[in-house]
Amino acid sequence: MNHLFSYCPSCGKNTVSFCGGKHWVCSNCGFDMFFNVASSAGVILYSGNSVLFVKRGREPAKGMLALPGGFIDAGETAEEACIRECFEETGIQISPVTYVASFPNSYEFKNIIYSTCDFFFSSELRLDSISSISPLDAEEVEDFEIVKIDSAECIAKLPIAFDSVKKAVTAWYLKTVH
Ligand SMILES: [Zn+2]
Repeated sequence: MNHLFSYCPSCGKNTVSFCGGKHWVCSNCGFDMFFNVASSAGVILYSGNSVLFVKRGREPAKGMLALPGGFIDAGETAEEACIRECFEETGIQISPVTYVASFPNSYEFKNIIYSTCDFFFSSELRLDSISSISPLDAEEVEDFEIVKIDSAECIAKLPIAFDSVKKAVTAWYLKTVH
């Protein structure tokens, strides 16, 4: 993290120092930056104890399972981001969503590690909407998989991309199905 900048993004001199945590300061021009946690939102689309996963089409964790979701845009609520991302990744229009839990995560993209706080919601998947599943961005989602969840141990064994997703599906399972 301390190698995020070699030169000051404001004055261009090599006078930026890493102050620890998420803070950088430039002694030449006073540039002062906090690299704060980013927020993301994901949805557990379920029917009974079956959950819809997306197979990731790009790195990080290409080919592994995740939930429909993504980064929250400026000015958006977590619920709005969750509904928008779900539509973009699956073609399914959902509403309303129910809050499940949030978990911290770190997301590496092109050698930069982003610390995130991932918010998770659930929404019932109407079986008639399964036939209409198709991603708007085919590069982002490789495929879909509906997984029947019979136990918390079964979630632990799934090839799930992120720990936060594993924890969220477990929290949902224990709260609503178990
Ligand atoms: Zn500077």
